Amino acid sequence: MRRIAFLTAVMSVCGVTALGAQADETGPADQTALTKTFDGAIQPNELRDWLKQLASQPNHVGSPHDKANAEWILAQFKAWGWDAHIEQFEVLYPTPVHESLELVGAKPFKATLQEPPIKGDSSATATQPALPAYLAYQGDGDVKGGLVYVNYGMKEDYDTLERLGVSVKGKIVIVRYGSGWRGLKPKLAYEHGAIGCIIYSDPHDDGYALDAVYPKGPQRPPRGFQRGSVQDMTLYPGDPLTPDTGATKDAKRLKIADAPTILKIPAIPISYADAKVFLSALDGQVAPESWRGSLPITYRVGSGKVLVHLAVKSDWSLKPIYDVIAVMKGAAYPDQWIIRGNHHDGWVFGGSDPLSGQVALLAEAKAIGALVRQGWRPKRTIVYGSWDGEEPGLLGSTEWAETHADELKHKGVLYINSDNNARGFLEVGGSQDLEHFVDAVAAKLTDPETGVSVDLRRRAKLRIDAVLSGAKDKDHQKAVAKMAANPDRDTPIEALGSGSDYAMFLQHLGLPALDVRYGDEGDSGGVYHSRYDTFEHHSRFVDPGFVYDTLLARTIGHMVLAAADADVPVERAADFAEEMAQDVSEIKKIATDKREAAEVQAGLLRDRAFALAADPTKAHGTPDALLAVPQFDFAPLDAAVTRLKTSAQAYDDALAAHGATLSGERLARLQALMLNIDQTLMSDTGLPGRPWYRNLVYAPGTLTGYGAKTLPGVREAIEQQRWADANTYIGLTAGVLNAFSDRLDQATAVLDAP
Ligand SMILES: [Zn+2]
Repeated sequence: MRRIAFLTAVMSVCGVTALGAQADETGPADQTALTKTFDGAIQPNELRDWLKQLASQPNHVGSPHDKANAEWILAQFKAWGWDAHIEQFEVLYPTPVHESLELVGAKPFKATLQEPPIKGDSSATATQPALPAYLAYQGDGDVKGGLVYVNYGMKEDYDTLERLGVSVKGKIVIVRYGSGWRGLKPKLAYEHGAIGCIIYSDPHDDGYALDAVYPKGPQRPPRGFQRGSVQDMTLYPGDPLTPDTGATKDAKRLKIADAPTILKIPAIPISYADAKVFLSALDGQVAPESWRGSLPITYRVGSGKVLVHLAVKSDWSLKPIYDVIAVMKGAAYPDQWIIRGNHHDGWVFGGSDPLSGQVALLAEAKAIGALVRQGWRPKRTIVYGSWDGEEPGLLGSTEWAETHADELKHKGVLYINSDNNARGFLEVGGSQDLEHFVDAVAAKLTDPETGVSVDLRRRAKLRIDAVLSGAKDKDHQKAVAKMAANPDRDTPIEALGSGSDYAMFLQHLGLPALDVRYGDEGDSGGVYHSRYDTFEHHSRFVDPGFVYDTLLARTIGHMVLAAADADVPVERAADFAEEMAQDVSEIKKIATDKREAAEVQAGLLRDRAFALAADPTKAHGTPDALLAVPQFDFAPLDAAVTRLKTSAQAYDDALAAHGATLSGERLARLQALMLNIDQTLMSDTGLPGRPWYRNLVYAPGTLTGYGAKTLPGVREAIEQQRWADANTYIGLTAGVLNAFSDRLDQATAVLDAP
């Protein structure tokens, strides 16, 4: 059996006698009584009713129902005893005025750019209009050019295109969704010289190749398309006009033309019913095997002779967004905040994304209100944020946190996020010094489908994934599986990149953060950001009975209660140290592999192998030479990780020995050192080319968009052939890890003091 006793031992609960619990010195009975009462206050039927109401009309930014939902959510918080208000911001939020996409030539065709209603679905009963096919923050334009297919439109696809001897300069590209974040597709297209970008959903990735399509099954129907933001979030998220400051009414704003996160070329999403017409019109060479999707056509790359006409025009005015902020003041530590958020705006109805997470958040808030009514009070202050404007670019959370940045840096202890929920396995990403904290909660929750603990099930999943899945990062998966198989170790959690409201807290302010969901079964990918992500779809295919949405509320609720009431910090350092050691070894392997690849390629270029191995009757090209990879001096990073391991173990041991009995001035000193320890991982320099990202341990990849890159200053420099940056950031990253160790050593001294 794994040891999980420690966390519960320090979670003694004040005022618990009001709940009639048997309080004893160790405290587990208190916490069990508290979570039991909490769980009893959460009813699946209520979650279902709330989701049905919130998802009854389109609720994108600027829609009447978005505002109505914010007001309704506010009223609930107030009724449940929270001190709540709406905080409003004015953000740049473009909406379509005109858009068209046509195939020009002998067989002209006009894309529909609309999703027809489906009987028995909210898409047929709603009375307010949905946004048409649209990508927020694309660059308006009216362009005509030859069409080229570039698979997923990611960097490696352009490398392949180069070998095929095809250029996209002056062309319009068509790419499919998947493999990396949507916003990178038009960005990379532009960087390669394209003048427009069409993104379609191939049935291979979320349509009939996976399962029956909606309404018969869960997957994407032929006319469904994926809206989304293409704002360049790799630079900074939030309102493009107010980086680093809250988008309040009188905020200083950039000119639209100067905002670096708005793209330069027009882009539009289309359905596979429309895409089939464009793709089957393409001429030129046949697409490589891995580029072929599941449409019944011959996939071709295109010679550029097939012409398309793309026009997008938007209204670029400011629109209001409405964050609902609710506060439950702490009794013992009112200036220490546990923050919990989920957005409430959707692209259309937002059934799964975001309302499945939003109703879990509401259920938690109601249950906490009920506990307070019975006499309990949290030790720390609990702040709930129901964010608006997440979909266009994490607007609500970013603007709120920018407005309150100084206060958050002083008072913020932890941020817990959720977004869309499904069923199956507990999936947690976040700060890896919280692995023990998450484990302690997950070990006590029962998985409804299997009857074992949520933690046991996710351990099994992590181990099986490493064996069965064909993921690219096999070495990383194996390392994760090894950790998950060790019953004496906490279950590992994945690092966070971007893609939901935790980004500002984790990557700009340096608060420890968690992103929590259930998933891998009943996923809503097939209706993601479409008009068919509805109450009906969610309750039929994603979480029938609202069993896992209820479980999500209990899971996060237990985390909130535990973090609010634990006197000693919930972080554990040894797990984090082990993760950092693993990351450094992965980075070294990247350098070795890259060096080898450059040497192999140099030989191929020298011997003209690319040209000799190509079919001379077809166009082909030779890749740009890779730079020779120098030897890096990893010594500072190695030393920092070695020291971190020692300091971490000493801290965890000291906490286990003395944490539970610590009180008064020593407890206050420990809290002062540890509650903001994660902020030591921040650097004022930020990451190369994107100083908004200040966290030197966690960041979204510049070429993944959402996917995390750990120790990003070093890792991405090596991946992207920036050798000078690699050396600089080996030093800077070692510096922040040493600062983290310094803090641990000081905290250990406080714990061990006689
Ligand atoms: Zn979402």
